[in-house]
Amino acid sequence: MVNQLINAESVLSGYRRLFGGAEPTALVRAPGRVNLIGEHVDYNDGLVLPIAIDRGVFAVAGPSGSDDIQVYSTAFDETVTIALRRDGPSDGHDAGEWSAYPRGVAAELAAAGVTLAGTRIFADSDLPVGAGLSSSAALEVAVALGLLSVAGEHLPPSDIAHICRLAEHHYAGVPCGIMDQFVCTGAVANAAMLLDCREEAARHIPWPDDDVVVLVIDSRCRHKLSDGMYGERVRQCARAAEAVRSVEPAVQTLRDVTAEQLDACRSSMEPVVYRRARHVVTEIQRTCEAAAALERGDFTAFGKAINGSHDSLRDDYEVSSAELDDLVETARGVPGVFGARMTGAGFGGCVVVAATRDAVPRVEAAVRTCYNMKYGVTAHVMTTRACEGATTTEVPRP
Ligand code: ADP
Ligand code: MG
Repeated sequence: MVNQLINAESVLSGYRRLFGGAEPTALVRAPGRVNLIGEHVDYNDGLVLPIAIDRGVFAVAGPSGSDDIQVYSTAFDETVTIALRRDGPSDGHDAGEWSAYPRGVAAELAAAGVTLAGTRIFADSDLPVGAGLSSSAALEVAVALGLLSVAGEHLPPSDIAHICRLAEHHYAGVPCGIMDQFVCTGAVANAAMLLDCREEAARHIPWPDDDVVVLVIDSRCRHKLSDGMYGERVRQCARAAEAVRSVEPAVQTLRDVTAEQLDACRSSMEPVVYRRARHVVTEIQRTCEAAAALERGDFTAFGKAINGSHDSLRDDYEVSSAELDDLVETARGVPGVFGARMTGAGFGGCVVVAATRDAVPRVEAAVRTCYNMKYGVTAHVMTTRACEGATTTEVPRP
């Protein structure tokens, strides 16, 4: 709570300093997220189990008094200006730039029928960028809420999630699943979100024990290789589903395939395609087991599921890295840790750990001696918890 107030104060004064004059009207907070389990299953219609975290984008919005939308980000110390009348979905020249996100959100809101007003937004973020904690969705949702607030419009969280996802597809050029925007807009405090990516339906599972925390460890390692590898995994999954479909016509995606069905078709697919599919099929099963374990408050079973997830991502899906494997092994060796795994698309990014609260200093010390010294970087250990989704509050008149 104290942290949030400090952030609110700093973004409010940042807005006033940058834009001068007109008072802001809305304070927006859009969280990042960490996926506890269910990795590389979203594009196979599977189940994921993310939480919104206590880091995110804090933004302040107000009317600009003109036909322009201006979005400033502290992360880039830059203002993007979007002319309201000229802006349209065909204006995609800034793909690859951060401006693609606010521009895409404005265009997709307009395409959804929202009449936008001239708006100024000042956005600050305490999320590492590109680390797999969904800084992109947090930015999109913060911009969407800021624009909606100044336009005097309300949309349900799931509509905002869809609009932001379209912005990411059409403007940033990232063909992401629905998880990031859904958890950012729809998470409930102190609960993990079991999200069915096929039905787009969420079930909130209360976090059963305040003495068990989620640790996110940023390896500080970003591999650029991941783009081509990602598309290759998507295609391999489609090929596996196709092979099973030839004997089980009802199968649409790997979500519909059981371990037995997959094994029965093993000889009809390349060994590597079989292993990719085995990851997906077993990961969906592990996600269900992890959710059930959370519901029972059984962190031993929960930890076992997330350990299994990492091993499968490392061995069958082959998206881990030496750095991530080292962090996972380091965390697993600490008393009080229930389980650890890489999270996000892989090849770098973060590791997620479930541990007792009193194990946190031991994890930090182990990371310092076993990881930081070996790789010559400082991996950031962040203690977090399940937080609520994005919120908008009115800024009181001074
Ligand atoms: P992730 O969402 O896992 O952090 P992505 O590659 O999906 O990684 O998104 C990162 C991109 O999102 C950045 O390169 C930048 O363009 C944009 N972005 C994220 N946070 C901010 C921010 N605070 N300000 C401006 N752009 C941001
Ligand atoms: Mg992202």
